[in-house]
Amino acid sequence: MNDATAPGDSSALESAAPEHAALDAWRAVLAALPDAAWVFALATRRIVLANEAAGTLLGVPAQTLHGAAVDGVIGAPEDIVYWSAFDPASAEPLSSEVVLHTADGRSVPVLRSVRFMRGAEHGLVCLRDRSGRRRGEAERENLLAELQATLEATADGILVVDLDGKVRACNRRLAEVWGMPEAVVDGRDEHAINEWMRRSVSDASAHELRLSALRESPLLSSVERLELRSGQVLERVTRPLWRGGRTQGRVFSFRDLSDSMAADKRLAELSSTDPLTGLPNRSMMTQQVTAAVGAARRSGRGFALLVIDLDHFRLINDTLGHETGDRVLVDVARRIQGCLRSDDWLGRVGGDQFALLVDGAEGAAAEAAARRVLSLVGQPCEIEGVHFTLTCSIGVALCTGSGAVANQLVSNAESAMRQAKEGGRATWRVHQSRVGVDLRRQMTLDHAMRKALVSGRFRLHYQPQIDMASGQLCGAEALIRWHDPELGDIAPGQFIPVAEDTGFIVAIGDWVLSQAVRQATLWHERGCAVCVAVNVSALQFQQAQFVDRVASVLAVSGLPPQLLELELTESILVRDAEEALHRLQALSRLGVRLSIDDFGTGYSSLAYLKRFPIDKLKIDRSFVMGLPTDECDAGIVRAILQVARAMNLKVIAEGVETESQRQFLLDAGCDAFQGYLFAPALDSLSFESRLLNASETANAPPRVRLVHG
Ligand code: C2E
Ligand code: MG
Ligand code: MG
Repeated sequence: MNDATAPGDSSALESAAPEHAALDAWRAVLAALPDAAWVFALATRRIVLANEAAGTLLGVPAQTLHGAAVDGVIGAPEDIVYWSAFDPASAEPLSSEVVLHTADGRSVPVLRSVRFMRGAEHGLVCLRDRSGRRRGEAERENLLAELQATLEATADGILVVDLDGKVRACNRRLAEVWGMPEAVVDGRDEHAINEWMRRSVSDASAHELRLSALRESPLLSSVERLELRSGQVLERVTRPLWRGGRTQGRVFSFRDLSDSMAADKRLAELSSTDPLTGLPNRSMMTQQVTAAVGAARRSGRGFALLVIDLDHFRLINDTLGHETGDRVLVDVARRIQGCLRSDDWLGRVGGDQFALLVDGAEGAAAEAAARRVLSLVGQPCEIEGVHFTLTCSIGVALCTGSGAVANQLVSNAESAMRQAKEGGRATWRVHQSRVGVDLRRQMTLDHAMRKALVSGRFRLHYQPQIDMASGQLCGAEALIRWHDPELGDIAPGQFIPVAEDTGFIVAIGDWVLSQAVRQATLWHERGCAVCVAVNVSALQFQQAQFVDRVASVLAVSGLPPQLLELELTESILVRDAEEALHRLQALSRLGVRLSIDDFGTGYSSLAYLKRFPIDKLKIDRSFVMGLPTDECDAGIVRAILQVARAMNLKVIAEGVETESQRQFLLDAGCDAFQGYLFAPALDSLSFESRLLNASETANAPPRVRLVHG
């Protein structure tokens, strides 16, 4: 407020005394006006009346405005220009928004109007405070900016339309999701947008139908999938747009599901696929077998399940490294895949285990498949210059179409596979129904075994063990033999597992122990100190009285304990290791020798070996078989010998059949061997006549010549 003359001076009002009536009228008008207003005299351009609202707006008492120069109150440039050119005779009204700077330092946006009445001597200035409206507008602008930013920030394409289908809002993501040119979205042209969508979806007419249904039902919300011609899959979510309790249109959001679907698919693949070979995994086998059982039940057409387990695969990993192991597995998978028909199914269902489903296979066809796999896996391998031959053991379970249960089938195939392993590996076995032949045979064998023990039909044969360096007899392994008058010759490989199953092995083992010790004692008494090795089954070893029993057999016989060797399996060391350690220490204190039979085929670790008071390792026949040409076998044998040397253990190789095998073992530093090269297991008389009689006087182990047994 500039140049306000004589504040508080009421002379202006008084000088206008003759126009009292007019001013009274103005006073009434001003009082009634909600806006700030003042009346000025055209002639003097001084304010003659101002209302309370004017005082409040300007931040001064209204009275102080009286007499002030009207052109000084608002200092906006427009006002300065207006008043400087002001001519009462031709005064024009003025109305515009200006910013008012008040006496108390505020800047207030106002709509300022200057008005005149024809013929009147006064003019009226009115100021409407617009700050409230400005604030509202600013808030609205902020809100809009925030809304747009939110729209742009969402990962979904958004389209908002009114009830007529006109575009109210959309974001750029809409263009990305639909692969639209941005211009289409920027133009907000609903026809262009709709047309683009219609052309993009795989089923345009279904799309159209759906849209018109949505148009007809403005309250409908929905979530749907749209398949695009590009192969993309979009999720479309739509909801009504509400304002003031009424639907105003519709909001669509579109999400590209392609990536997440691809990820889901990959996840499903990963959980059902073996990443190494790309074959289906074990969980898929269960599904596949279940499906095959169902199909067989419906069609009456059977199938065969083959469980294929690589022999001694762990040793490939241990000697050649896991990377080579992986490559071998991939190679095996490829080989087996090579012999599949289109309906067959192959999966990798364990570390070194595969499962093969052969469709429509009866017994003969399943056997043919097993033979094919055996031969393919058995082809020589070469990886990074290392040559070796793999073998596998196969268990076959047949599903004839009715009554089969998937789980049972799998476990039958696995049990047949284990039988194949027990039967010497590199072979196959067909599972015979437990309810049928197998169980009956097991019962027959069990019964016959019990009779055989009572009626003394078991015999022990002794296989000579020869010291590598000296060629001298250094021991004999006692191996059980059984001839049954009805069943004929039954190999230990057949009846020992049954005896282990039924627990009868404890009785048999006890008989073997006492029989072998008696024989060793006889030989010892005749001056031949032959150490006799006795096979001990895990169940027998676990008997609480086992150590006492050994001690008492030795005590009764008078045999020097070092002439008895107990051949233990690796499983004994692994199962309940603390208890085993205890027992082995007690046996060791007795003075008997302890060896690990079939070393390398079980799961014993070096850590166990180090802790246990073991004297000797027996290299399993399966590693000796490939010597000296099979590099894998050769590597394994050398590794076992190194381990033994480091642990100060003696090593004997089993199953030596050829001179070249013996030579290899001799060169590699093996201590002793047994096998058909020298002699098979012989009955005690043959053993004596061949090995002991010659040197009976010498009271020392006889020196022997190598002869083929
Ligand atoms: P093992 O203890 O590893 O016995 C060695 C097996 O290899 C014997 O088979 C033996 O006859 C055979 N063998 C030895 N040299 C050669 C060879 O040069 N070539 C070939 N191809 N084979 C050879 P056997 O007597 O049939 O016994 C098989 C398995 O039965 C034994 O394997 C052992 O685990 C078990 N067994 C035998 N007798 C007894 C016993 O009295 N008690 C227990 N618990 N198990 C026994
Ligand atoms: Mg043995
Ligand atoms: Mg053995």
